Amino acid sequence: MAYDTSNIFARILRGEIPCHKVYEDADAVVFMDVMPQTAGHTLVVPKAPSRNLLDADPAVLAKIIPLVQKVAVAAKAAFNADGISIAQFNESAGGQTVFHLHFHVMPRYEGQPLQIHARQMEDAAVLAANAEKLKAALA
Ligand code: AMP
Repeated sequence: MAYDTSNIFARILRGEIPCHKVYEDADAVVFMDVMPQTAGHTLVVPKAPSRNLLDADPAVLAKIIPLVQKVAVAAKAAFNADGISIAQFNESAGGQTVFHLHFHVMPRYEGQPLQIHARQMEDAAVLAANAEKLKAALA
């Protein structure tokens, strides 16, 4: 299936709709997931258009993984996590709901399961505070 430029992350990347932004460089944007599965759930989104990992340019992947690592390390510290889960879904059957490549960085806490994927909207104030915490840890 072809990349659809009207997907919600493409619209965020174009600045058409807001996000709780943590970081941006020439190749990627990092922002808070609005329906977090865990406190501090963050998305690392390459700017280059691809539906997911399956059609991504390997050069884009080579640049994005070090950023995923950087965000994971910062998120573990910022949110006092015991661990971090990284997730990346491909096509509807693979659990994907937004068809622009992204990596989930999810702080994990001993004994705490993940919330259901893309289900419960978080308060904007909580997302804003978490974005600031993560920004500080990345600085
Ligand atoms: P996936 O199912 O891997 O495509 O994940 C898409 C993620 O994007 C889900 O975790 C949603 O909660 C999240 N999401 C959907 N819309 C937005 C939005 N406008 N801003 C931030 N995160 C979003």
